[in-house]
Amino acid sequence: VKAVVVHEYGDAGKLSLADMPLPEPGPGEALVRQTVAGLNFIDIYVRSGLYAKSHTYAQTLPVTLGMEGAGVVAAVGEDVNDIRPGDRVAYCLELGSYAEYALVPAWKLVKVPGDIGLDTAAALMLQGSTAHYLTHSLYPLQPGETCLLHAGAGGVGQLAIQLAKARGATVIATVGTGEKADIARARGADHVVIYTQEDFAARVADITGGQGVHVVYDSVGRATFEHSLKCLRRRGTMVSFGAASGAIEAVSPLGLAEAGSVFFTRPHLADYIPDAAARRERAGDLFRLCREGKLTVTLDRRWPLAEAAAAQRALEGRESRGKLLLEIGK
Ligand code: NDP
Repeated sequence: VKAVVVHEYGDAGKLSLADMPLPEPGPGEALVRQTVAGLNFIDIYVRSGLYAKSHTYAQTLPVTLGMEGAGVVAAVGEDVNDIRPGDRVAYCLELGSYAEYALVPAWKLVKVPGDIGLDTAAALMLQGSTAHYLTHSLYPLQPGETCLLHAGAGGVGQLAIQLAKARGATVIATVGTGEKADIARARGADHVVIYTQEDFAARVADITGGQGVHVVYDSVGRATFEHSLKCLRRRGTMVSFGAASGAIEAVSPLGLAEAGSVFFTRPHLADYIPDAAARRERAGDLFRLCREGKLTVTLDRRWPLAEAAAAQRALEGRESRGKLLLEIGK
């Protein structure tokens, strides 16, 4: 069984393709013959060691990378009653998806309806569930509210724009280039700011008549955090959910007060899909929105498993314009 592993933390050069024995599912587990694995920024944090001490995403080296996949169940262990061999499934937040076969706790699996492609389902697991909890649970947007969302043309970004619009909010999206601005607009963003060229805090002030936004969804981190705080209205919510440009060093409580008594949170997806019911409910809602034509999943580029390093370099090099996938089998 081919798998992409890292033996020590570092850059994409640390990825290597290994031959592993075919794993056998233990109690509560399923063996998935994978057709695709999804790339996510969290794979870069794992590979680089940023999450080396994480309890939520605990890991030991050597580790098979990847936290999102889809395929067909090949076998199940004892005490697995609701998943059967032959089921089309998708999952996220289980390490080991950059591989031909993955062992996954059965409670993390979502059955994929017949009218949803496995590649689309993979995209909806980690990036879709993230966009969903941000807009529907963490800060459930209300009609008439305004949000600021960074990296609007990326994997999470394109989905989050659409889900925020579905809730009736006004969306201000930031992007790195003019070409990405067209993508964010096509996904429904009301205003798009090219933050590599413009002062996004000044633009947000203009757009909101000086009021600021109800919530900032900031996945860029170090490069945007301070300016993001300036974009909030009084008692707004600052969601720092990623570190694409590097992790923020510290958050000052008094700084939050001075920003207008704002609320700060740094969430993990794992805490918003803590059990099978939550996972399946969120995935079910995403499948429904796709089916109703209210959510477009952009399947961007694909690489074979052996080229996972090139795929990761594209993601960290700001090249993603939707979902990046490793294509593994049929
Ligand atoms: P994206 O496809 O959004 O790629 C990241 C984007 O971030 C880039 O395309 C780029 O867009 C922007 N960016 C800004 N500065 C940099 C930089 N210095 N280096 C690289 N990228 C930069 O990735 P994902 O959709 O996989 O993830 C988006 C974010 O969401 C990540 O930060 C990820 O960690 C976070 N996330 C958080 C979760 C959580 O629960 N906390 C769960 C899932 C994802 P542009 O060129 O337009 O600036």
